[in-house]
Amino acid sequence: MVYADFVMVTNSDRLAALQRLCLLDTPVDPSFDRLTRLASRMIKAPVSLVTLVDRDRQFFKSQIGLPEPWATMRETPLSHSFCQHVVDTNKPLIINDSRIHPLVSNNLAITDLNVIAYAGMPLVTSDGYAIGSLCVIDHEPRVWTSEEIEILDDLAESVMTEIQLRESYDERHRIEQKLYETSQTQLKEMETLYKRVSDLERMKTEMIRVAAHDLRNPLGLVMGYSELMLEETEVMAEHHVEFVQSILRSGQKMLKLINDILSLERVTSAQNNQYQPLVFTDLAREVYDTNLDAARSANLHYTFESEDLPLTVLGDVVQLREALENLISNAIKYTPAGGTVTVRVRRQSEHILFQVEDSGYGIPEADQTRLFQAFYRVHTDETYRIAGTGLGLHLVKNIIDRHAGEVVFKSVYQKGSMFGFFLPIA
Ligand code: ADP
Repeated sequence: MVYADFVMVTNSDRLAALQRLCLLDTPVDPSFDRLTRLASRMIKAPVSLVTLVDRDRQFFKSQIGLPEPWATMRETPLSHSFCQHVVDTNKPLIINDSRIHPLVSNNLAITDLNVIAYAGMPLVTSDGYAIGSLCVIDHEPRVWTSEEIEILDDLAESVMTEIQLRESYDERHRIEQKLYETSQTQLKEMETLYKRVSDLERMKTEMIRVAAHDLRNPLGLVMGYSELMLEETEVMAEHHVEFVQSILRSGQKMLKLINDILSLERVTSAQNNQYQPLVFTDLAREVYDTNLDAARSANLHYTFESEDLPLTVLGDVVQLREALENLISNAIKYTPAGGTVTVRVRRQSEHILFQVEDSGYGIPEADQTRLFQAFYRVHTDETYRIAGTGLGLHLVKNIIDRHAGEVVFKSVYQKGSMFGFFLPIA
């Protein structure tokens, strides 16, 4: 076959470039038809084609003036193709009379499509491959003028611009589609993950609740009997008394941990809170008072300051009491004898500002970002002996967040700290 000799026509890179454009066997398209119509009119040629030359056929992306059945088929084998020569050489092909032209005189297009005069311009991709041709055809011998060839050249450029526009649009569309698909897959993965995490979270909460409850009763017994034994120290050896005291101290630590875990569990699992109005100043005063003994035993200068106004908030009294208790008891716990602890309630525009300020051990800067994480405890030379669970501040933050408030703190190591929060006034 004639076309088998054409190296560039069958070149696999060129064919791949053609395939990438996704134009073969696509429907008729008005934007290409406009260009063939224009070529046909301006050059006054009865036929004009946008031909894409495939391995063994040429496909007409657009055609004006072809006879049937070619007009409907929109393709011919390469035995009927002049355009394959344009593609093979990547150069224009100008033929005045095909019947006597050595390159095409045997081409079947002469008899079957009545192609007598032909002018074709290569359609070249940005990476240099000729994928087809824009051509005009006449059924009579004809000398093509240089002006006509220039027009054809310009229009071939326009065909390529159209193809490239389409290519970048398709590329964008493909990227968008890919992004969309990726985001959908990620969304699904996240949903599954979220469900698994929620299930695990529920399981964990349930286990903590059961374990904490089940531990509290036997622990109560251990502590109760220890206390009873300490009432009869006169019949016990001295070192046995120390043992029992140690059991009681450990029991108290465990009880604090269990109570903190249960409080946290209660706060985090509470849903649709029905908050009641409560006088915050009174609540703060009450919690301050319950810590008077502890402050006195710690030999602290302990004071309460508040504006006279009763400041009201909407909240859960049990939770807020717990938050206040944690902040005040921390200040007492982490301030050495002789220091000061001041509990303050103030109004700041539409908010209550609650603060506990102490002249205690303070917190090194490096530890400050993690203070509100569950179980995080700061270990400094001054505080490592002080018992605690590391749950108090985490609990406070949870409670205040749930009341649409904001926790505040400031601490300077070895100087003192201020912990507090803002709450919206009801
Ligand atoms: P803990 O049960 O250990 O007191 P918290 O969550 O209440 O747990 O506090 C976390 C850590 O923050 C504590 O271990 C302590 O080191 C530090 N901290 C909290 N309040 C103060 C304070 N007023 N002064 C100094 N350190 C504090």
